[in-house]
Amino acid sequence: LLARQEQWESRARTYPRHLPIALTEGSGSFVRDVDGNVFIDFLAGAGVLSLGHNHPEIVRSVIRQLSALTHALDFPTPIKDAFTQAQLSMLPPRLRTRMKVHFCGPTGANAVEAALKLCKTATGRGGVIAFRGGFHGSTHGAMAVSGLVAQKTPVHDGMPGVHFLPYGSLGPYPAGAASRLGPQACADQLEQTLTDSLSGVPLPAAVILEVVQGEGGVVIAHPDFLRRVREITHALCIPLIVDEVQTGCGRTGTWFAFEQYGIEPDVIVLSKALTGIGIPVSLILYDAALDTWAPGAHIGTFRGNQLAFAAGVETIRIFRRDDVLGNVRRRSEQIANALGELDADPWVRDVRGRGLMWGIELACPDDGLPAPRLAAAVQKQALRRGLIVERGGREDAVIRILPPLNVTADVIDSATSILVDVVQACTS
Ligand code: PMP
Repeated sequence: LLARQEQWESRARTYPRHLPIALTEGSGSFVRDVDGNVFIDFLAGAGVLSLGHNHPEIVRSVIRQLSALTHALDFPTPIKDAFTQAQLSMLPPRLRTRMKVHFCGPTGANAVEAALKLCKTATGRGGVIAFRGGFHGSTHGAMAVSGLVAQKTPVHDGMPGVHFLPYGSLGPYPAGAASRLGPQACADQLEQTLTDSLSGVPLPAAVILEVVQGEGGVVIAHPDFLRRVREITHALCIPLIVDEVQTGCGRTGTWFAFEQYGIEPDVIVLSKALTGIGIPVSLILYDAALDTWAPGAHIGTFRGNQLAFAAGVETIRIFRRDDVLGNVRRRSEQIANALGELDADPWVRDVRGRGLMWGIELACPDDGLPAPRLAAAVQKQALRRGLIVERGGREDAVIRILPPLNVTADVIDSATSILVDVVQACTS
């Protein structure tokens, strides 16, 4: 199957290059390949499978919906209404009454496009401020505001008026980064860029960021940085878009990651884990004051996936019933303790995470530069031992794990002991 894919599919494949397996079925935190090997899946569909593969109750809800109505464009339907109300009910109380929802195409990038267009329309301005190391998707607009450059170089692309600034992170600045500004200095730079007329940067339509940069290598925003970004954007009437495509729907231990920072965004972007088992859908939640869109301003055929709505309603019901957020927090502590063993390893520059989103940053102890070859070896050896992990960050030198959010303590034990063994074996 890998050879056939190599022959017929575009070269733009990603995962099978590093993880050369062909999959047949999944169940919970496990996935099986065509040879019958079973793996612990800590890639989990790039964070999509928040309730694991094939959660039986969600599967049943989708099958029920499948025989009733599958697609309804943007006509109202009872299941869409239930989904909308369920999403709004997850907002902090102050935002619940203030926010509207817009359904977008099936992917996160679709919703990022919608967020950018909404803010441009509402402010009548064109530019956007984004941050180095951020990732927002592969469509033109979403790519243009992404601060990871590899995808952009071959298509010579940017979007007029997009400016990148350093991201104020918690902990050490990512290995290989030229700028080593602390969180306050990063916020100062934003303030100066926006308020000094000699900066040459006109007031933008929006500031867009992730609370934890996922693809960027699990880089966590410093609370002082994020609070000041909110204060500055607020004072200058610039909408703040928080991209929660990866961090949202419980990944970091609260439904939205921004809740842990005491800030209120103007626009929230959601997709990946909305439906628990990967039925595609995306949406933005946004301050009703921005709702200056004319009818038809942002349309698309696949904005009425009733199967996704059914799965999304069931996902939230299960989160509440099973206290999945509590599980995220408990399993997160377990990971922190288990991976703490790696702190002493000179090749491990940093181990960091929020909820069930963790990264092990590998860098050369001599020069502090990222160690991508070592990270590739760790990923390969982990796969041999039955554990699927992802890589990200600068030069792909951060080992990333994104387990299902209902993962059990036993599975975390097995996975972290494989990971610690493998890292220690590869660095000794
Ligand atoms: N924003 C963030 C923060 C993401 O992590 C991703 C996907 N990794 C996207 C946007 C794009 O989502 P999609 O791949 O569904 O277009």
